[in-house]
Amino acid sequence: MDFSQTVIRWYNKNKRDLPWRHTKDPYKIWLSEIIMQQTRVRQGLPYYNTFAQKFPTVHALAKAKEDVVMKTWQGLGYYSRARNLHHTAKFISKDLNGKFPNEFEEIKKLKGIGEYTASAIASFAFDKPHAVVDGNVFRVLSRYLGIKIPIDSTEGKKVFTQKANLLLDKKDPGTFNQAIMEFGALQCVPQNPDCGICPLKKTCKAFAKDLVAKLPVKSQKTKVRTRYFNYFVVRKNNKTLIRKRTENDIWKNMYDFPLLETKKEMKKLNATRVLSVSKSFKHVLSHQIIFARFWEVEGGNHKGTYIHDNQLNRYAFPRLIELYFESKVKQ
Ligand code: SF4
Repeated sequence: MDFSQTVIRWYNKNKRDLPWRHTKDPYKIWLSEIIMQQTRVRQGLPYYNTFAQKFPTVHALAKAKEDVVMKTWQGLGYYSRARNLHHTAKFISKDLNGKFPNEFEEIKKLKGIGEYTASAIASFAFDKPHAVVDGNVFRVLSRYLGIKIPIDSTEGKKVFTQKANLLLDKKDPGTFNQAIMEFGALQCVPQNPDCGICPLKKTCKAFAKDLVAKLPVKSQKTKVRTRYFNYFVVRKNNKTLIRKRTENDIWKNMYDFPLLETKKEMKKLNATRVLSVSKSFKHVLSHQIIFARFWEVEGGNHKGTYIHDNQLNRYAFPRLIELYFESKVKQ
C-alpha cells in the first residue's frame, strides 16, 4: 500500500468528527480554516459553531457590523484574521454576488487567504488537486522522507510543496489533505510520536535512521521582544474612557484604554491623580511578551469616549484588557 492510501485508511479509522468535515460549502470551509489557523481545535471549535450560527451565509457575515464581528472573535487572537474575514465576506457578497471562486488562483487573490488556505478551500470544497502544506504536513513529510532542509527556508517551502503534490491523491485530494494533516496532528505529533503503532513505520526514513526527534529542522529561532505597556483607566461617574484602536497592528479596530509604552517598567506616575494601580499582567504572543500595568486615574487630557461600566461588555477588547477586567471582578 502506498503512502497516500495508508494515510487515508488511517484517517478513516482515527479522524475526529468536526463539523466542517461534513460540508462542501466553501463559505463554511473558509470560515473553519481562518478560525483554526494558529489555534487548537478545542479552542477554535466553539468559535466556529458561534460564527456558523450567527452568520450562516457569506451575505449574513457581510451585512454584520464590524464591532459585532470583532466582539464575536474576541479571545481568539490574531485579530487581522477577523478583519480580513469581514472584508472578504463583503467582497464576495457584493462583487461576486455571493459566489465563492472555485479556482485556486482566484481563491488566493482574496484578502487574508494565502497558499495554504487557498489549497484547503480548493481541495475540500471543489476537489481541486492542490496539496496543503501546513505545520503538520511539513513534519510528516520531513520525517517520512527523511528531509533535513529547514522547513522555514524558501527552499524548504518549495521542496515540501513539491513532495506533497507528488504524493497527493489526485482522485480524492480533499480527503488526502485532511488525512495527512490529521495524521500529523494525532499520530506523527511534534514530541515523542508513538512510532511503534504507526502504519508508516516500515517505510519511514526518520524511524529507520533514528532521526524522529531531530526532524523537522528549523533554521531561525523567532526573536521575542519584551514590551512594557501602561494603560490609563480614566474614570468618571461610573464610566470608563475607552478608545477605538486605529493603529495598523494586531488589535486594529478593537477597543482599549489610552496607552503609554515605556522602555522599562513604570513604577510611578506623576501629574494625574492615581486612584489605584494594578499588578503587572504578563501576556505572551508569538513574537512579543507584554508586561502591562493598569493605572486607574481621574482627570487628564485623554481622547476617547466615556462608557458606562455596565455597557463595557458590548465592546471587543484585546485579551490583555479582558484579563484586567477579570481581575477586577475577582476583587
Ligand atoms: S514512524 Fe514515527 S516519525 Fe515516522 S511517520 Fe510514523 S509517527 Fe511519524
